Amino acid sequence: MEIISKKVTVGKWKVNCYLISCEDEAWIVDPGDDVETIISSLDLDNYKLKGIINTHGHFDHIGAVAEIKERYNIPFLLHSKDKRLATQGNLYRRMVGDLKLCKTPIIDEYLDDLPSLELKRHKIVIHHTPGHTNGGVCLEINNNLFVGDMLLKGNSSISNLPGSNKELMVLSLNYLFDNFKGFIINPGHGKSFILDNDSINKFKIMI
Ligand SMILES: [Zn+2]
Ligand SMILES: [Zn+2]
Repeated sequence: MEIISKKVTVGKWKVNCYLISCEDEAWIVDPGDDVETIISSLDLDNYKLKGIINTHGHFDHIGAVAEIKERYNIPFLLHSKDKRLATQGNLYRRMVGDLKLCKTPIIDEYLDDLPSLELKRHKIVIHHTPGHTNGGVCLEINNNLFVGDMLLKGNSSISNLPGSNKELMVLSLNYLFDNFKGFIINPGHGKSFILDNDSINKFKIMI
């Protein structure tokens, strides 16, 4: 009954899309782009997919949501405070010079109403961590934390993007440092790492 997480990096913005599975059940996290790559690399056809969870609504993380949602007939879950970001993804894509447009996804359920989600007998705990975006969340399962763009290896998150707020970011980062020391951090871009004293101290210098 092990939890297994698999990752594929997709799109122009090199977003990490994750599949978190236990036996035959799985959740998809942040399908940013490249529908077919996600389907084949993460072997989606071989799972009972429970739904798509997004850590936040930025354009680089939502590009494949609508198509995967429709293909597998599964719900899309997002925090309500990122609704506008997610529904205006193409506007932001154009602002940063990405001409590849994506289909706007329909949000089926808001993460703010759900303290946790189920995966077999495990729980995925939802932590609202505003800052990078207002509706940003981190997903905790066993000793893994999926943080979106809150913590990127060697880079304390980006707080100058649409929807970001530096003061909230500092509060949320301190919440993560206080509660998740020793966890494996799975970021939205780049490599996973362990949140140890050394990495916390490096992040603290940057914020
Ligand atoms: Zn982001
Ligand atoms: Zn991102």
